Amino acid sequence: MTPELPRRLAGRLPELRSAAQAEPLGLYLHIPFCLDRCTYCSFATTRDRSLQPQATARLIAQVRAWGAALERPAVDTLYLGGGTPSLLSPEELAALTGALREAFDLSPLAEATFEANPGTVDLAWLQGARDLGWDRVSLGVQALDDGLLGRLGRIHGAAQALEALDLAERAGFRRRSADLMVGIPGQSLSKVIDDAQTLAATGIDHLSIYLLDLDKACPLRAEIDAGRLSLPSEDDVADVFEALQDELPHLGLAPYEISNYGRPGGESIHNTRYWQRRPYLGLGPSAASQMGGFRWTESGLIAAWSEGRGDIEFQELDAAEELAEIPLLGLRLHRGLDWGALRRKAEILNLRPLCDAWEARLRGLAKEGLAIWEGDQVRLSPRGMLMSNGILQMFV
Ligand code: SF4
Repeated sequence: MTPELPRRLAGRLPELRSAAQAEPLGLYLHIPFCLDRCTYCSFATTRDRSLQPQATARLIAQVRAWGAALERPAVDTLYLGGGTPSLLSPEELAALTGALREAFDLSPLAEATFEANPGTVDLAWLQGARDLGWDRVSLGVQALDDGLLGRLGRIHGAAQALEALDLAERAGFRRRSADLMVGIPGQSLSKVIDDAQTLAATGIDHLSIYLLDLDKACPLRAEIDAGRLSLPSEDDVADVFEALQDELPHLGLAPYEISNYGRPGGESIHNTRYWQRRPYLGLGPSAASQMGGFRWTESGLIAAWSEGRGDIEFQELDAAEELAEIPLLGLRLHRGLDWGALRRKAEILNLRPLCDAWEARLRGLAKEGLAIWEGDQVRLSPRGMLMSNGILQMFV
């Protein structure tokens, strides 16, 4: 075991290797640096860029170590997330991409996405990324209103976000995604719809709609707790999601997952693998992996991770947990899942009663118009999607 691989995984390498050789992996790389900290953010990121050379060198060393340990497995999706991957220098991005090509078999690569903050990109950087083989960009737009963006602590305004989408197109990215946030204090329903329309008109092929999540401590949470700002009501937020469900297909963006909309062929292949429980390896502080019945998360302590310290959180899933994850994740997809296949798997695992209990509840939900059965295929209805948080609890 090389020092770049977590010691706790040492005894598991044969199983991990056989899982990695059985089908192509997805590879997620976490770049934990941002120019400034957004007021709602609880991700593993830092403004301390002095750590960037060391963290990037460790990430490259990890890429090499994992590629060797898993015997250069095939990878069909790459995802560079953060943090702000667009803060990598052109040289760092080239070195990382070169290491990926050497350490993994990228011949089946179907998608290579990086996230970018609209406040950090220019045409030359984007063209450089495109030339290195990255073919999809996901831009954190969040809103097209300077007041709301200021409240979120974003480093860019609305015009800069639209300009970044245009630059990406000029740099040759045919696949461009934008993130839009719902539930921001002061955000109106009509403004969200306007923003979605404006973004769709830029020709993006994918739109992610996220609910502002303030579960963890952050400056925006403190403002709300102090009564200086207030969140929209749950009913108002539900109205926004419902209106987007109605409006976005008219703009060419069809829902394919609870929070994601795409043009035909625009669906995120990498993110879809999470919902289909296909294996993935995550490298970088706080990155998560799932493979061969194991799940682990790297330390989110950026300085410790960069120095090769910090333990992983490791979990071996039991049969019932593995089975439950199939509907828990699969029902997020609009196409739903093949319940017949789940039933057969449950039979093999001696978990048929558990599967039957879930099925009875899903058949009950169908009577309430929240789920739709077509033969052995089941999916949530549009109203079921709006209530998915509660519905999916049955699998937790
Ligand atoms: S750009 Fe993203 S990762 Fe960075 S602080 Fe803002 S929300 Fe967090």
